[in-house]
Amino acid sequence: MFDARYSTRTHVSGALRPENVGATVVLAGWIHRRRDHGGLVFIDLRDRSGIVQCVFDPETAGEAFVTAERVRPEWVVSLVGVVRARPEGTVNDHMPTGAIEVVVSEATVLNEALTPPFEIDAGIETDEITRLKYRYIDIRRPEVLAAMVLRDRVTQRFRKSLEHRGFIEVETPILGKSTPEGARDFLVPSRMSPGEFYALPQSPQLYKQLLMVAGVERYYQIARCFRDEDLRADRQPEFTQVDIEMSFIRQDDILTMMEEVMHEVMQEAGHSLPVPLPRITWAAAMDRFGSDRPDTRFGMELVCLSDVFASSGFKVFSGALASGGRVKGLCAKGAGDWPRSRMDALNQLALDNGAKGLAWVAFTSAGEVKGPVAKFFSEDEVAGMKAALDAGPGDLVCMVADTHALANEVLGTIRLRLADELDVPRVGFSTLWVVDFPLLKWDADEARWTANHHPFTRPFDEHAATMETDPGAVLSYSYDLVMNGLEIGGGTLRIHDPKVQARVLALLGMREEEASEQFGFLLDALAHGAPPHGGIALGLDRLVMLLAGAPSIRDVIAFPKTSSGGCPLTGAPASVSARQLHEVRLKAE
Ligand code: ASP
Repeated sequence: MFDARYSTRTHVSGALRPENVGATVVLAGWIHRRRDHGGLVFIDLRDRSGIVQCVFDPETAGEAFVTAERVRPEWVVSLVGVVRARPEGTVNDHMPTGAIEVVVSEATVLNEALTPPFEIDAGIETDEITRLKYRYIDIRRPEVLAAMVLRDRVTQRFRKSLEHRGFIEVETPILGKSTPEGARDFLVPSRMSPGEFYALPQSPQLYKQLLMVAGVERYYQIARCFRDEDLRADRQPEFTQVDIEMSFIRQDDILTMMEEVMHEVMQEAGHSLPVPLPRITWAAAMDRFGSDRPDTRFGMELVCLSDVFASSGFKVFSGALASGGRVKGLCAKGAGDWPRSRMDALNQLALDNGAKGLAWVAFTSAGEVKGPVAKFFSEDEVAGMKAALDAGPGDLVCMVADTHALANEVLGTIRLRLADELDVPRVGFSTLWVVDFPLLKWDADEARWTANHHPFTRPFDEHAATMETDPGAVLSYSYDLVMNGLEIGGGTLRIHDPKVQARVLALLGMREEEASEQFGFLLDALAHGAPPHGGIALGLDRLVMLLAGAPSIRDVIAFPKTSSGGCPLTGAPASVSARQLHEVRLKAE
């Protein structure tokens, strides 16, 4: 609760209502706006709770009137006055305090302020760098403050819901040893051990597993994580995870527990989450949506057309099928009359994503069949394609013939682009689990298997035997929580058997000495009575961004970095003195 207790005020501005009429109040805050009107001065006074209109009458306000004439936006003032009902015809229904005003008798300037670099208002057009440079002014804007408040509500609800289920919050080190989440570490030179470095945690993964071995059983932490990666709209070099780990559980226990917690968190944020959530396997997600984080708020699903084109004379299709690939397609309703240039742009997108091309067929509203490859298809094939995709006049069919994986991936990208271009309505929240990811993925550049999630993920028990002979087919106990096409969380059951762990590390091409140097401490711990365990981590920034309806995670972080990793407010990163460098035995280039 935010009120005037423990302050120099008697009331907060935004909470004044008709019940306060007649009360003498002491308020304090910032000058939001000032207007001179028919001899009276009106000041909108703003504090965290909101805005209230204050009136200065030259007849009654005395010295305070002189002050009112002098003050400027964003000056900090304290006002004493009496609350009265606004005169007839001046009530403002758009303001929570719009039925009343404060008739001021005393005014004190607590601090003057420079002219703010931008207006403290909703929906301003100021560029982001300026907003971030003056973030302390930006946060005064109601929509930015509202995001902070929402973030707090969500965080507190996570804490409450987890505590209620027997979890305890445990802090883990920020100065630690490199953790293998697959990203680049931020390094911190050690002064006391010259030439050695701490790594900032990419996540508390190894520590939370150690806590399970330690018998903590149910751990959580609102944990700051650091990954030195190139930034995108929904990435920051430091971000926050709701990090969770549990012992003596099956995969289903974690999913069910998380659904309950998420239901409560969404409710706190004013949204509902129908549980249980749908669960879809990774294989089905790739097959139907071409993505491991499918946006299921709209259809346009991928369909296998290999049967339709089984005896196709079109070399590209028959070639792909003969080498074990697939022909897959999707139908974009309403794009059949698009000009050629838009199809060319889609083709380019397919090429950029590794396809040899996009085979498209446009069924125009006028009944024509268009497209550079349409002539290669028989009447039966066109009819089969239309039936399989439910395509008709005015629709565009996009097809890719390639390996199953590539056809899915490319069409998944095309699907999202088409939804954007067609302005397909995507309202509400669509939340689901994607489960059963492959344990490994093939890194073609390095010609080796890498961990799909991280190296501590437990393979399906029934696949453990064939791990070395058919690594690509091994599935894992793993799950991602997906909301509106974004991954907002992910986790796995962990390997608790040191022998299995050693085999997985070997599959990842890690020699025994290397493994023991990097995570020997984990392998040791697993040998000291590790319980079966597993966990999950949710991306708090992304989740709050979705709940706030904000376009970027920067909108829900108090002091975010720009896309080049800088802080326009403090100037970080910055050079340090020669002495500081010398202390850690480093030289700047
Ligand atoms: N540590 C993992 C991550 O950051 C989450 C987990 O497996 O619990 O993605």
